[in-house]
Amino acid sequence: MSHKIAIAGVAGRMGQSLVRTCITEDGCEVVGGTERPGSGELDKDIGVLAGIQPLNIKAGLSAAEVAKEADIWIDFTAPTSTLAAMTALDLTGVRAIIIGTTGFNEAEEAALREFSKRFAIVKAGNFSLGVNLVTALVEQAAARLGDDWDIEILETHHRRKVDAPSGTALMLGEAAANGRKAPLKDLQSPPYDGITGERETGKIGFSVRRAGGVIGDHEVMFGSDDELVSLRHTALDRNIFARGALRAGQWAIQQPPGFYSMRDVLGL
Ligand code: NAD
Repeated sequence: MSHKIAIAGVAGRMGQSLVRTCITEDGCEVVGGTERPGSGELDKDIGVLAGIQPLNIKAGLSAAEVAKEADIWIDFTAPTSTLAAMTALDLTGVRAIIIGTTGFNEAEEAALREFSKRFAIVKAGNFSLGVNLVTALVEQAAARLGDDWDIEILETHHRRKVDAPSGTALMLGEAAANGRKAPLKDLQSPPYDGITGERETGKIGFSVRRAGGVIGDHEVMFGSDDELVSLRHTALDRNIFARGALRAGQWAIQQPPGFYSMRDVLGL
């Protein structure tokens, strides 16, 4: 059965990737997309915006209008926009909401959770299936390998990235800290620079590289005196986030209302 999908922020990087990915996936039909008030992309064909053939669907302003035939809403926009859309979706037939938007503050996060009484919501800071699998494996490895195994996280990204370590590196660090039953802030080593002294037992270190067009490369290394174990993920295409979000949508539509993560989707 084909699920009907509406996409928020359809002219954005993720919005376009979702349109391109959706039309090639089985069981997935795009029925609408929104853009922000004042956007020059409003009323343009969402297929053309995504760099593919016209789909005869125009980017619209109203979430309620765009989603009137949809059962899944996918939102990679901005926190205030995502929250406003959820209020508007209340009177539609949408049952599952996939949220990739990042940067919600605590109050916004609490407001989001309120909507999970009505919708099956999947929210993730990283929708890549591979990253979520590696995250679960890192937590298990950190729990099973004792404190005498040092944990080092290395990430590489393109030269345009402005923050470090990446959100995904921090997510991997949190998983490792979780395995060690402590918050990351207690275990994170300050960046190595100058005379650092010896490495402290049980700490989690981060290293960062920035070069060229690397989409994203993350490696978590566990090291004892006698052996090294590495878990690594390399992103080869930005469409991994869209693919993960679509898979989450197909899973969520079969769930009762609730607040879910990618780990629930993948059964990890
Ligand atoms: P982008 O700026 O390219 O796209 C965002 C789009 O949303 C824009 O086209 C913008 O006009 C639109 N928009 C803003 N307000 C809107 C509104 N009220 N109604 C409709 N559309 C609106 O950004 P992006 O790179 O696509 O990222 C978008 C979000 O997704 C960011 O929060 C980013 O951090 C996040 N992201 C998450 C993942 C993940 O796996 N969870 C992956 C990539 C990006």
